[in-house]
Amino acid sequence: MSIPTRIRSLNQSIREVSAKVGRDSQDIRLVIVTKTVEPQLVLEAYQAGERDFGENRVQEWQDKKDALPADIRWHLIGHLQTNKVKYVAGQVSLIHSLDRLELADAIEKQAKAKGIAAVPCLVQVNMSGEESKFGLDPALVVDFVRQMALRPSVKIRGLMSIGPLTEDEGEIRKCFRETRELREDLKNKFPQYSWDILSMGMSADYRIAIEEGANMLRIGSLIFPREVKK
Ligand SMILES: *Cc1c(COP(=O)(O)O)cnc(C)c1O
Repeated sequence: MSIPTRIRSLNQSIREVSAKVGRDSQDIRLVIVTKTVEPQLVLEAYQAGERDFGENRVQEWQDKKDALPADIRWHLIGHLQTNKVKYVAGQVSLIHSLDRLELADAIEKQAKAKGIAAVPCLVQVNMSGEESKFGLDPALVVDFVRQMALRPSVKIRGLMSIGPLTEDEGEIRKCFRETRELREDLKNKFPQYSWDILSMGMSADYRIAIEEGANMLRIGSLIFPREVKK
């Protein structure tokens, strides 16, 4: 299957799942994850009409972005080291992986230094509790967000979470539902932020994520399976 065909069929599936749960698929943004994918193949996805692309490593993104159209909205979805903040603040459209104070401080410092008014970020929550995953312990999120008051350049837009690596659909669903509920709680507690983005759902679990309220999906391998990347 070609990349445009894969994208069409994914968008069709997103429409179907949304309709099934009474949601408007227009409210759901697809971020195509292009890590380890050659620019030429990313361009095929771009030519199929996609504009939001996600990378998890700063170095790889930097090597790739100049070979691709300037109107791409880049999403930094992976763990971000503080010494790399200078390359992404003001350059990517959204950082999905804000997960510690040290990183917020680095973002604030860069924004001040460069005169960037706001750096859009999602707070990454480790809802599944898996040790292998980055993200804040959900119990610490309220306190973390409270501390953003002293870091006014960090513009929180919502939450990001990664579903647990399991076949157990109930467990995945629970993780996504709890992320949505946490967002509701934060919305009430911190009305100064929009909380309009809920980034959850990948190739294996995006249907569950849509059913549980995700409005930003991060999908890679469904569009770029191993045989496409060669
Ligand atoms: C790789 C990655 C994705 C995409 O995963 P697929 O299973 O390939 O769809 C989504 N989010 C993050 C944070 C990733 O690193």
